[in-house]
Amino acid sequence: MNIILFGPPGAGKGTQADNIVKNFSLHKVSTGDLLRNEITNNTNLGKKIKSIVDNGLLVSDDIINNFIEQILSNKNFYNRLIFDGYPRNLNQAKNLDFIANKYKQKISCVLSLDVDKESVVKRILGRQSCTKCGSIFNEYYNPSTNKNHSCDPKFLIKRFDDNKKTIVKRFDTYIEKTLPILNYYEEQKLLHQINGEAEIDQIYQQIQAIIVSLET
Ligand code: AMP
Repeated sequence: MNIILFGPPGAGKGTQADNIVKNFSLHKVSTGDLLRNEITNNTNLGKKIKSIVDNGLLVSDDIINNFIEQILSNKNFYNRLIFDGYPRNLNQAKNLDFIANKYKQKISCVLSLDVDKESVVKRILGRQSCTKCGSIFNEYYNPSTNKNHSCDPKFLIKRFDDNKKTIVKRFDTYIEKTLPILNYYEEQKLLHQINGEAEIDQIYQQIQAIIVSLET
């Protein structure tokens, strides 16, 4: 099965994607992570997209579609993908269907985490990720502790685009460009809407129930 995790920046998609990956045999595809890697490694692509990402705008569809085709064409991930932060506009959603079809795959469901703008800002300002193991935490809502994280706290970092100015712009980009995709998936009867304001475990339980129901 291939799953799309949908929602505004800071909705908890990355955290839930990591939970799903741990419990189901799926591979996470975060286009944001792929782009940040390019920027951190100062590649030609990274140099080209840095100011776009810094300003909370969308990187061109051609760049994203190229990454996605590489992943969908990889037999190791056949029908085992969870998309986090992709697709971001209708063109990407249609292209995903096209590429999936080309490699004889399909989208099984779209899990939309609904969260309002105020919560998004609070969550993003507290977000931290571990450069060693990749786990995501929040210094206010879900801090890294000895119980949930075995790496040294020195590996915890904040993302360079997690500042207040960029967050507001990213949220506005989401409302303008990304939210309209929901209709596209609703019409295909793939959409499941989930209250993203609930506790992390409660959200995960709902997600798990949906995925299990798809497997049977
Ligand atoms: P994210 O980690 O998903 O919040 O993405 C961080 C930033 O990367 C976004 O604000 C965009 O600038 C860029 N980005 C991530 N995914 C996409 C995508 N599918 N299409 C275009 N830009 C993207």
